[in-house]
Amino acid sequence: GPTMAFKDVGARFMARCLGYFNRNNDAEVTVLVATSGDTGGAVASGFLGVKGVRVVILYPSGKVSDVQEKQLTTLGQNITALEVDGTFDDCQDMVKKAFLDVDLTSQLELTSANSINVARWLPQMFYFMFAYKQLKALKKPLVFSVPSGNFGNICAGMVAQKMGFPIAHFIASNNANNVVTRYLDTNSYDPYPSVQTISNAMDVGNPSNFIRIQALYDNDINILKSNLSSYSFSDNETKTALKTIYSNSGYIADPHGAVGYLGAKTYLTNHPNVQTVFLETAHPTKFLDVVKDTISVDIALPPQIQLVIDQQKKAILIENYDEFKAFMLKF
Ligand SMILES: *Cc1c(COP(=O)(O)O)cnc(C)c1O
Repeated sequence: GPTMAFKDVGARFMARCLGYFNRNNDAEVTVLVATSGDTGGAVASGFLGVKGVRVVILYPSGKVSDVQEKQLTTLGQNITALEVDGTFDDCQDMVKKAFLDVDLTSQLELTSANSINVARWLPQMFYFMFAYKQLKALKKPLVFSVPSGNFGNICAGMVAQKMGFPIAHFIASNNANNVVTRYLDTNSYDPYPSVQTISNAMDVGNPSNFIRIQALYDNDINILKSNLSSYSFSDNETKTALKTIYSNSGYIADPHGAVGYLGAKTYLTNHPNVQTVFLETAHPTKFLDVVKDTISVDIALPPQIQLVIDQQKKAILIENYDEFKAFMLKF
């Protein structure tokens, strides 16, 4: 898709749904979105020029890659970027607070384009179905390793499983932001603030879809554990995986896909008879510095990235919720 991440499919589906359902509505809808990197660009591109919709993107200053920042700050038109002095969790908290703030909701028609909105990830069920279609002839139990941040993508797989798709097991592959890995190890859900990693789209301290996953498995941790394993990997392990994948197959993964690969590998050591699939969630050029430093290979910039990289960044600095609110009231 236009931003070279798996989120393009869901963001475009949601944008067109909103445009359609809003076609006879004169009031403008304001879409609020917090991003740890990729969501902002995919949503901005999906909603660009959609009639009756304005998009406000909050992103953590200095914590997204150059390409990601360009993708969400250069489009103009109905897209506004707010650069927040804080972490992704701060951005997400501001968005959630805005939805409960009567001063804002009485004046603006707000909606979310984060994966708290199911329209964003329901279409992602197709990824799992498509993999099944290609692999069913192997007649092996199918296990998906999903590099997870807010747990929307893996939730889509789980809904597909609930609908009857023969998916044997899921692996939530995490970077150092590993609240779910720890939960499955200790039975205690204990979120920490997010920490910065080289797979920044997964730098989420408290994944907003996890509550849905618990509900899908009857809020029973034992049922959950029979369907879900979770592992956490460091940046160093991720870099080593990038090298291994490249030297074994010539495939250039991105850091998120590499975390997914590590999860699949780890699961296979104790379950050698399953077929694992790891999801690759973005193109490596979105994380050019890390990938180039790790496997010293030249990657040609795809045309859609070339298009934004030389554009001028436009963003408004925001330090706290009050500033955000003041901006929204004037917006
Ligand atoms: C968003 C994103 C993820 C995490 O997906 P979730 O649905 O939030 O779990 C993983 N990798 C990349 C590249 C992403 O952009």
